[in-house]
Amino acid sequence: MHIGFRTSGGRGEYEIVSGASGQSASDLEGWTFHMLWPDGKLRDTQLWLDPGDSGKPRLRSLVKPEFQIGRMVASMLLLPAPRRELPASAVGLPVIRQGEYFLKKVGFGPGTSFASPPESVQFTPNYVEVENREHTEQLGVEARWRRIEAIYASVAQQDARVATLLRLHQDQINTGEPITTSLPNVVNRIVAALAEADPAYVEGHDPLPALERRVGIQIADVPDLPPPDDIGEEDVEVRVRSAHDYRLSKARGPSAREFSKAVREAYRHRCLFCGVVLGGFGGLPSGVDAAHILAWTNYDLDVVSNGMALCRLHHWAFDAAIMVPVLQGGKYHLRFTTRANALLTADARAYLLAEDGLEVPEEWLPDDRNDWPKKKYLERFYDDLSIVLA
Ligand SMILES: [Zn+2]
Repeated sequence: MHIGFRTSGGRGEYEIVSGASGQSASDLEGWTFHMLWPDGKLRDTQLWLDPGDSGKPRLRSLVKPEFQIGRMVASMLLLPAPRRELPASAVGLPVIRQGEYFLKKVGFGPGTSFASPPESVQFTPNYVEVENREHTEQLGVEARWRRIEAIYASVAQQDARVATLLRLHQDQINTGEPITTSLPNVVNRIVAALAEADPAYVEGHDPLPALERRVGIQIADVPDLPPPDDIGEEDVEVRVRSAHDYRLSKARGPSAREFSKAVREAYRHRCLFCGVVLGGFGGLPSGVDAAHILAWTNYDLDVVSNGMALCRLHHWAFDAAIMVPVLQGGKYHLRFTTRANALLTADARAYLLAEDGLEVPEEWLPDDRNDWPKKKYLERFYDDLSIVLA
C-alpha cells in the first residue's frame, strides 16, 4: 500500500493506493494518518481520508492552509519544494529541482499498522518516488534520513548561515509535533543560502550531496532502497528496481569475482535461457554474465546454486522480471511473467523465447546437480518480486 499522487483534473491530489494486501483504500475512509519516521517519532500528519462526493477518497488536510503529504515528506527529507501539477521539465536535467518535479508516491513499509478504534493508520514511509516529465526515481527514506542525521552531526563545519538553517530544520523535526508549512520554507532558505555559499551548487537542485561534499562526507556505494520484500506487494516496479540495485551492488562486492568465475565455469559459458555458448576459451573472454537470483537476503548468496549464467539479453530479461526459470518435476521451464505481456510486444517475446514454458535441456545446466538453481532461492525470488506467471 502507498500514498499516490494523481495529476488528472488539473489539481494534484493524493490518494491511498492499495493492491493485494488485505486493506483497501475504501476500508480506510474517514481514517487519520500518523507517520512513524526513522527517528523513532510517531507524528500526526493532520491528514484524513475524505470519502468525498464521488469516486476515489482523497487525503485531505485537517488544518488550513492545506499541507499536502508530498510537501511535508519532501521538506523532512531536505528535498526542495515539489509542485502540484506535471511540470514542463527541461531535457537532461536531474529530476529533483525546486518546483520542477512532483513527489508521486510515499511507500508504506512493513511496520505499517491499522488501528481501530480510533481509526488510524500508522505508516512507516520507506521510499518516496519523484517524477518529472522525463524520469522517475525512488529514494529510500531510511537511507536518506541517515545521511541527513550525518549532516546535522557535522553542522558546525557548514557555512554559518547554512548551519543556522540546518539547526532550525533539525529543531522543528525534533519536537515530534506535526510538521507545518514553515518546514518547506526552511528548506527553501537552506537552498538559497547554500547557493550563495557554494558556487558549485546549482540553486534548486537536491542540496544534500552539496552539503555532504562541503563537510567531506563520502556516501557508501550501497543500495538506498529497502530490499524488495519490504516494499508493498503491489509496487512491483519498485520491487524490481530494488532487486536490480541489490544485484548490482552484489556484483561489485568483494566476493563478486569468485562468484562470477565459479558460475560461468559451472555453466561452461553457456546461457541458461537460450543455450548460446560465448567465449571463455581460446583466449576469448567469457561473454556470459553470472546473475544472482537473490541479492538481498541473509542466505549464503555467493554460491553457484544462487546464480545462473546468462547472456546479456537474457540477463536483462531476468533482471527486469519478465522471464524466469520455474522448477517443475525436476525440470526447469522458462516462463514469461505477466510483466512480459504488459510491457513487451509479441515480437520482443518471440525474440527472447521461442515458446513460453520451454524445457531447459539438461546439458545447459552445470554437471553437478548441487549447482543447479535451488528451489528455495527461486521461490523466495518469486515471492519478493511478486512474480506472477503469464
Ligand atoms: Zn541467452
